[in-house]
Amino acid sequence: AENSVKIQFDSLSANEAFARGAAAAFLARYDPTVPQLADIKTAVSEAVTNCIVHAYPDRIGPVTLCIAVYPERLVKITVMDKGVGIPDIGRAMEPLFTTGNPEERSGLGFAVMQSFMDKVKVSSQSGKGTRVVLTK
Ligand code: ATP
Ligand code: MG
Repeated sequence: AENSVKIQFDSLSANEAFARGAAAAFLARYDPTVPQLADIKTAVSEAVTNCIVHAYPDRIGPVTLCIAVYPERLVKITVMDKGVGIPDIGRAMEPLFTTGNPEERSGLGFAVMQSFMDKVKVSSQSGKGTRVVLTK
């Protein structure tokens, strides 16, 4: 990568805005277009919110955000947690699928990431955590 940053923070809801802002601040110097930056912020927000809401059902745990910039303006964002994991990734990524409270969650986070980024890759191990790699 041309430049990269790695940040670890606690899975507290207040840190969702922090993560979104940190990504924007890091990428600002690469002259992203306004829509490009907005798309990335939206995707980061969804991925980080998933760690905060789903990864640690009964504790606060670590969330890691890595951002890497490559030549030709390729941006790769990795969001990782050490939480419960996703038992069936294919199912979890289906639009409208949620294990959350249906009054609060709509099951559209992954669909949003997929529509705002070029590629979304999810890997997960039960009890060990989840990694979401977003590229644009
Ligand atoms: P929304 O994002 O619309 O508020 P949601 O979070 O349930 O709702 P998605 O973001 O698409 O929808 O995630 C789908 C499901 O995948 C979640 O309900 C949860 O079961 C699972 N999931 C997603 N991210 C994680 C994670 N980091 N750890 C554990 N489970 C996850
Ligand atoms: Mg979500």
